[in-house]
Amino acid sequence: MIQDLTQSKGVGAINADVCLIGGGAAGITIARELGSRGKRVCLVEGGSLKYETESQNLYDGQNVGLPIALQGGRLRFLGGTTNHWGGRCAELDSSDFLRRNWVPHSGWPIEFSEVAAYYARARAVAGFNAGWLPDAQTFSLLKAEPPALNDQLLRPYLWRFAPSGADGSIWNWRTAYRKYLEETANIHVLLNANFQSFATDATASRVTGLSVRARNGVSASVSAEKYVLCSGGIENARLLLLGAEKNPGAFGNAHDVVGRYFMQHARGPSGLLVSPGRLARLQGQFNVLRGPNGMDYEIGLSPSPQVQAQRGMLNCSAVMQYQGDPDSGAATAQDIWRSLRAGHWAPDMGQKVWQVVSDLGDFARSVQQRLASGHSLAQDGASGIPSRSAVILLDLEQAPDPQSRVSLSEERDSLGLRRVRTDWRIGELERHTAAVMTGMIATEFARLGIGRCRLDPWLQDGGPPASDALGETYHYIGTTRMADDPREGVVDRNCAVHGMKNLFVAGSSVFPTGGHTNPTLTIVALALRLAEHLG
Ligand SMILES: Cc1cc2nc3c(=O)[nH]c(=O)nc-3n(C[C@H](O)[C@H](O)[C@H](O)COP(=O)(O)OP(=O)(O)OC[C@H]3O[C@@H](n4cnc5c(N)ncnc54)[C@H](O)[C@@H]3O)c2cc1C
Repeated sequence: MIQDLTQSKGVGAINADVCLIGGGAAGITIARELGSRGKRVCLVEGGSLKYETESQNLYDGQNVGLPIALQGGRLRFLGGTTNHWGGRCAELDSSDFLRRNWVPHSGWPIEFSEVAAYYARARAVAGFNAGWLPDAQTFSLLKAEPPALNDQLLRPYLWRFAPSGADGSIWNWRTAYRKYLEETANIHVLLNANFQSFATDATASRVTGLSVRARNGVSASVSAEKYVLCSGGIENARLLLLGAEKNPGAFGNAHDVVGRYFMQHARGPSGLLVSPGRLARLQGQFNVLRGPNGMDYEIGLSPSPQVQAQRGMLNCSAVMQYQGDPDSGAATAQDIWRSLRAGHWAPDMGQKVWQVVSDLGDFARSVQQRLASGHSLAQDGASGIPSRSAVILLDLEQAPDPQSRVSLSEERDSLGLRRVRTDWRIGELERHTAAVMTGMIATEFARLGIGRCRLDPWLQDGGPPASDALGETYHYIGTTRMADDPREGVVDRNCAVHGMKNLFVAGSSVFPTGGHTNPTLTIVALALRLAEHLG
């Protein structure tokens, strides 16, 4: 059942077995799992069924560190941030779970196998009904057999994209599961129900109730055996900090760890690959490609676990952003197509048409390649047209840093609660990782005769700080990290908040380290694992 708190004055007190706070990927996944086991679930969602500016404004906050789009990076309505995610999915590497003595505060308290056991179901939950074939099979399906890389250094890395609808919209949790939530009697979704406060027992070690409030002032309370924060990687920490503000030492913050170790995947260009000839072969190997099964994939590169240990680097990945060769027939054809589509006949159109005609071989090859992989020429800019150069774009794991943190600001939102304050930092290990990774790509591509790479200035000795070149990816990690020792983390190996008997956390905030890849599939795998524990 879905109910709107704004229009439900008499809703009063709700009883449930489990109360979930937040209806994004994590919250909806747990609701479905527990719902199917017959549990009475109450899911309180701060937003409604669509984007609303006033709800979104509650996500505003103060930023004192590197730039963060506190509003653009999160969406505050049913389905959460998946309402505008990219659908790019992959699993963490087993090496991401290890304690690495060159990465301070690394190491998960659970083994990779404990998460991997849930990945197959997580794919189905995330819309991949079929088509998730093993990597080697996928490369051959895409006719993208990788070059003969030294796999002690670099390996091809594969991402799969969640399916898109006929209108181009990407599969997401709201559109996929709204009907199910409406029709399931033992799941009570309360919209416009914003977290207001927790009630606790005398020792503040058990949550006894949750108050929620709509922006029009209507309020309700939920009484449940167990409570789970599913409000996203920043908000999960904020809600615990708000709890700890009233109950010092409780809500997992006995050792001032809540909100610390705030990480993302830092993203930015690290070099330019230049080739004397065209990069057609590479473009068929490292690119965004559509398979004959209609699924989209991206192939990039990542460092082997051995080289990460040898070179003392973090995990990371690189993708190629091809720059269209401005003199090629295909680039010119694309220019003509764009002009005509915009109803515009450029003065130099005659010359351009001649350029296409005189480079027909290249044009035909390009069209053939695009059609074979299911892309249209117009679809994706320079990635499919002949190119002599490519920007190397990195996604970097971050080293957990207790000074990089989320805390509470002195400013208050319209519900009277302290807003969030973020201080996101990028350290030297990230720069070192980027330099080693780009250097390895340069060496391997030179050895294979693909081209020469030029490192960007920030990677050279004495260059500007890494934070000048890297930006955020909206993957908010680590703020309620998992650790056996409450001095090192906020939740235990079962995602239970340390020191609390019935409060749990779901989402990327529990990742102690984040690898390099997009987090949502792992969020879902951990949510399934938590649901099993709660059920
Ligand atoms: C532009 C963009 C592109 C992205 N692309 C990808 C991608 O390609 N692949 C990938 O893996 N990830 C991607 N992500 C990240 C992905 O969207 C998140 O990892 C995922 O949505 C996190 O799920 P969640 O359930 O933890 O949080 P969310 O999806 O953010 O859900 C949190 C929910 O809690 C609710 N809520 C928040 N605060 C409160 C409160 N105080 N009271 C009540 N309810 C509250 C919110 O309204 C929301 O519904 C992208 C993100 C962005 C911004």
